[in-house]
Amino acid sequence: MAGLEKSMAVKWQVYTSADELPEDQQELLREAELALDKAYAPYSNFHVGAAVRLDNGEILSGGNFENAAYPMCLCAERTTLAAVVSTKPDSIVKQMAIRVRNPERPVEEPAAPCGACRQVLVETEGKQKGNIQILLQGETGPVYVLSSAKVLLPFYFDGSFL
Ligand SMILES: [Zn+2]
Repeated sequence: MAGLEKSMAVKWQVYTSADELPEDQQELLREAELALDKAYAPYSNFHVGAAVRLDNGEILSGGNFENAAYPMCLCAERTTLAAVVSTKPDSIVKQMAIRVRNPERPVEEPAAPCGACRQVLVETEGKQKGNIQILLQGETGPVYVLSSAKVLLPFYFDGSFL
């Protein structure tokens, strides 16, 4: 006997270029692009930049931070969120933009955060009791706008299970 089938819809907005976005979103995408140069990625050569806008309007950013012991590598999303909790612990993250750069070939599509970063983003939303708008873009090309990290992680685990 087949179980009851269920489904979840995942919705996001696609813009063919950043020019179509409001100025605050374009600015955050530019800050994430600048953060690509903060990446320490001598092993993968894959650069990721993340930038967040806080509730006071301030922007913080970070890059991925690799290590010769590969499992210790930190993603740009998490170095940036760590910068928030260590320097602005009472602030609320309103938006995060994520950009990527591969020196081997141009990245023309948005790259989504890895599973670990999705989990940390969802935790941050729970901590601050507010969604984080996520903006994704490659080096060029379309921009994806998601209303919450939960869009990226529909079956999320959080503190309510503990
Ligand atoms: Zn990650």
